Amino acid sequence: MSTNKSNELPLVIGVDLGGTQIRTAVLHGPNMLSRGSSLTGKDPAPERIIPRIFAAVEEVLEQAGTTLNQIAGIGVATPGPMDYKTGVIFAPPNLPGWERVPLRGLFIEHFHIPVFVENDAHTAGLGEYMFGAGRGCSNMVYMTISTGIGGGVIIDGKIVEGASGMAGELGHMTIDWHGERCNCGNIGCLEAIASGTGIARKANEAIRSDEGIELLTFARTLLEHSGEEELHINAHTVALAAEAGVPLARVIIQNAAEAIGAGLVNIIHCFNPEMIILGGGVAQMGPMLMEPALHVVQERAMKAPRASVRIVQAQLGANAGLIGAGALIYYHNNIDVGEN
Ligand SMILES: [Zn+2]
Repeated sequence: MSTNKSNELPLVIGVDLGGTQIRTAVLHGPNMLSRGSSLTGKDPAPERIIPRIFAAVEEVLEQAGTTLNQIAGIGVATPGPMDYKTGVIFAPPNLPGWERVPLRGLFIEHFHIPVFVENDAHTAGLGEYMFGAGRGCSNMVYMTISTGIGGGVIIDGKIVEGASGMAGELGHMTIDWHGERCNCGNIGCLEAIASGTGIARKANEAIRSDEGIELLTFARTLLEHSGEEELHINAHTVALAAEAGVPLARVIIQNAAEAIGAGLVNIIHCFNPEMIILGGGVAQMGPMLMEPALHVVQERAMKAPRASVRIVQAQLGANAGLIGAGALIYYHNNIDVGEN
């Protein structure tokens, strides 16, 4: 038994490098002693962004009234594809211009303390595992459903990485093998059907083909009340329309919900997890989404693994990736955070 309990956890730094935001924090477990965020910007070239991240790290250190020699390490969450062992980033679609960037090496060169780099969905899963809904549960799957769909799988307390760190791409499991092509090249991916982007695309297609007149009228009314100038139909618009009873919107949400249900069945059958944790904005649509999804699970999943799984909402919200980035230091050093 380790004696290193949560009140003795070392301080760490988390960095969450996203396509829209860069967030940094000094963390004591899940608690943020200081935090900063800035927009990634339209030109995220590494030679521009990396010095900004270094400066942001210095800033949160100063805000927290601490110095690097009190920090056990820096954990960095980045979009994939990337190599978690070497910390090299391979041209993620969300970070144009990042071709084979040795991010971990650059961080170590600059700060001279331990650094770990990990896929952002994996770190979010790790955050929920150590400090969120997954505490005390060593076999769990985290799935985030927002503009895209990502996943982090923890089995026997270990992040499942796969041969090249790409395990857990839950958004790209095939749901409809005769379906539409996904950005990844595959056909009928869960992400193409049920992500925020997929839901918005379905709505916009319907509007162009005239069957979406009622949805369009609803969106125009929303626009008048919002004070914005441009009509922009996203997943949130579709959810509001569905709540207001617009039939097409209900069909689109129902379809996405059932696809998520089929995805959950696949996850249950592949991993037999104790818990599936759902995060991301789309997952927060509530009963409209969850009831049909759970109905599919009830109808289709094998009885034994269905009986042993709990499907719950994430607890760390948008901070999961950042808290999980810091948690990489505890994870790689086998530090007992107290609840697992
Ligand atoms: Zn795909």
